[in-house]
Amino acid sequence: MAKARVLLVEDDPAQAAATREILSKGDYEVLWAADGINAIKLVTRDKPDIILLDVVLPGMTGHEVCRWLKREESTKAIPIIMLTVKKELSDKISGLHIGADDYLPKPYNELELNARIYASLRTKALQDELRQKNSQLEELLEKVNNMAITDPLTGLFNRRRFSEVLSSEFERAKRYDTPFSLAMLDIDFFKKVNDTYGHDVGDTVLKGVAGVLLNSLRKIDTAARFGGEEFMVILPNTEKANAVIVAERIRQSIEQATFSGVDRPVTASIGIASMPDSGIDQEDKVIRCADIALYQAKQTGRNRVLTAGSADL
Ligand code: GH3
Ligand code: MG
Ligand code: MG
Ligand code: MG
Repeated sequence: MAKARVLLVEDDPAQAAATREILSKGDYEVLWAADGINAIKLVTRDKPDIILLDVVLPGMTGHEVCRWLKREESTKAIPIIMLTVKKELSDKISGLHIGADDYLPKPYNELELNARIYASLRTKALQDELRQKNSQLEELLEKVNNMAITDPLTGLFNRRRFSEVLSSEFERAKRYDTPFSLAMLDIDFFKKVNDTYGHDVGDTVLKGVAGVLLNSLRKIDTAARFGGEEFMVILPNTEKANAVIVAERIRQSIEQATFSGVDRPVTASIGIASMPDSGIDQEDKVIRCADIALYQAKQTGRNRVLTAGSADL
């Protein structure tokens, strides 16, 4: 294991030499600074594991150095033991108050000095471990959260996340009168793809269609797998006419795409519903309108984009 690096900040050369003598018997690498400015320089450059900081220093006082180091994000975790000749309670308290981790009255006893350094390093090691565990936990939590809103096959959002986004878009449209569109996409004759090429090839096609959606959309749009071979796209701030343009581009991209293991074009039908629509007073009506448009696209020959509104309900 690497030696713990101790920074001694002490202006008195004799006192510094004596303290270094004590420290050299322990398993420490010792750095020395004779004033506050040099101490701060050494801390930022050499990242000591612990700092022994004299209170009375020329120029910047030990308390000022301590306050500075404890304010900085990159140095605030380094334990600081204040060294003081003054035994007054007020001095000790003010040192601890501005962030020092411990104090040691001079002249100090060798055993006590070592014990305090040991205790501070142990606390720091525990804190480092905790911090690491916390960040591992946070990573895990993020993974779990992502799993809860992601469709495992395609990597798109799942139906649950789709519902959340639709709700918030619907609320926003109602409250601020902003437009948005919902596009519902269903692959044409997908059962035939499965029957002809097998279920695994069918899965590849689903992933490929998801890829087309992601490539065709803006960052603020939401693409989700709604179920089997049905997908939903939420287009915020998008009126019907523009939604049709986007959907038409998606339809063409799917028709022109090649899917591994499939030797004929795959097509999809898309139904669009848009807000504002005074007859759409509940969010499930947005889905029903898109579904009606999709049904009509299927009825009238598939591989096309159609729209519907509350008048069609
Ligand atoms: P239409 O043009 O009317 O939409 O016809 P279709 O064959 O696409 O529609 P239908 O709803 O009859 O068939 C959907 C098929 O999608 C049936 C089901 O086996 C298949 N399917 C659903 N989920 C999955 C999946 O995760 N993987 C694969 N490979 N197939 C799926
Ligand atoms: Mg001094
Ligand atoms: Mg379907
Ligand atoms: Mg289908």
